[in-house]
Amino acid sequence: MPFHVAIGALLVECNHFGGIPTDLESFKRTQYLLDDELLQLNDGTIGGYLEVLAQQDEVTVVPTVAATACPGGLVTDVAYGHIKKAFLSRIQAAQQRGELDGVLLALHGSAASESHYDLEGDILQAVHEQVGGNVPIVATLDLHAHITQQMLDYSDVLIAWETYPHRDARETGMRGAQAIADILHGKLKPTMAMGIAPVLVGAINGTTDGEGPFAETMQLAKHMETQQGVYSTSAFLVHPYLDAPNMGGGGLVVTHDDQPLADKLAAEIASYYWDQRVALEPELFQIDDAIEFGVANEGPVVLVETADCCGGGAAGDSVQLLPALLELGDQISSVLPVVDRQAAAACHEAGVGAELELEIGHAHDPKWGQPVSIKVKVLNLTDGKFTYRGGIWDGCEGNMGLAAVVKAAGVQICLASFPTYEWCGEQYPALGIDVARAKFVVAKNPMNYRMAFEHCSQLFMVLDTRGPTPATCKHLPYSHSLRPAFPWDPEIESPVRVLS
Ligand SMILES: [Zn+2]
Repeated sequence: MPFHVAIGALLVECNHFGGIPTDLESFKRTQYLLDDELLQLNDGTIGGYLEVLAQQDEVTVVPTVAATACPGGLVTDVAYGHIKKAFLSRIQAAQQRGELDGVLLALHGSAASESHYDLEGDILQAVHEQVGGNVPIVATLDLHAHITQQMLDYSDVLIAWETYPHRDARETGMRGAQAIADILHGKLKPTMAMGIAPVLVGAINGTTDGEGPFAETMQLAKHMETQQGVYSTSAFLVHPYLDAPNMGGGGLVVTHDDQPLADKLAAEIASYYWDQRVALEPELFQIDDAIEFGVANEGPVVLVETADCCGGGAAGDSVQLLPALLELGDQISSVLPVVDRQAAAACHEAGVGAELELEIGHAHDPKWGQPVSIKVKVLNLTDGKFTYRGGIWDGCEGNMGLAAVVKAAGVQICLASFPTYEWCGEQYPALGIDVARAKFVVAKNPMNYRMAFEHCSQLFMVLDTRGPTPATCKHLPYSHSLRPAFPWDPEIESPVRVLS
């Protein structure tokens, strides 16, 4: 019997505490594909879907929409409404043609719109209501997803990426496609549970590589896949910069028609994750202490200002470090990335070699600090385009918009017009910066800085700065009641909840 599987993607990670609103242009700048355009994708999650579905007996792919954006502020209601309608209209048309037997969606799990703090729950419910209860829905997720009851209620299987730094989007896509094929071919009757422990931590100690608190949680979860009756397992370190109820990380287990087993194993993963909470919270430095320590040490130093991480939805416009770097004078060189559309445009107007007064920073998300007014010299101007060298966007083009490098004292400031995700520090070389020549390199992400800069530095210091993606969640003004939760409550009786 021939099967038709609708595929699509809505992939964006959102931030409730700051960042630039994610509008339709934000998607179009990264990826916005319709219908047969999806079939050209060889890589990423959709590439994985297509490869596995092509190998299945009598499965035809029905492409819909693939919308991906750099992490940012909330998806605007207009953009979400547009994308949701584009999905649902194509699914409805396939249904009317009699060509819809399953739905396979690439979602993030921590997207939010102006009106929905659980965007994935909303889209899964809308798809479920469109297709009816007999059409299975499988979604693949980021391991930083916030899993909700709504997501569990309106999907049959959820499967997340296994690696952080993320490099298995394609493999996860293949696993998701296999799951929908297995359901359609009668090989899987899924039952699913999510165990959640209320741990809200940044991603600094959240790698899945080697040893460490989250790597070991992931290993525990993956080992369960060898057990009889278990179809798949996922471990989650929730993106903590959502302001949603019932936040936490833990484990999700899909079993073969065995709800009690799924419940039991999901609780075990979440309980183990709870036990890792202290190790997940990073050691932090104040700016002045980090700079003093860095100056006293030989060799380049990476200052990790994860509070302003574009990859976590921040605007990337913080200059909290700039005054301290300027104070070091001409002899100590440093490099700092700042998103500031107006400043970049002013530099393009002035031209290379020009000297001008600029007000830099906190222009897009002003609540986290004050701009700095300085006289700068324009060293370089570019169109801001670059190519990713790994990760989920390997080989894809990144776009900072009009970009400029300016210098004041020993500081080279890289001005971009738009925030961009960093995989391997691609933005610095694209602007003609040799980070190996700098004493202080500022990295605005919680994890990928290691891949980008470990060839030139041994000393990494994570800063305790303010912003919408801070290294510790203690600073964030959550409005939903999360308590009791770590790090505010280090001890909780029965911390694990199981959703199924
Ligand atoms: Zn992630």
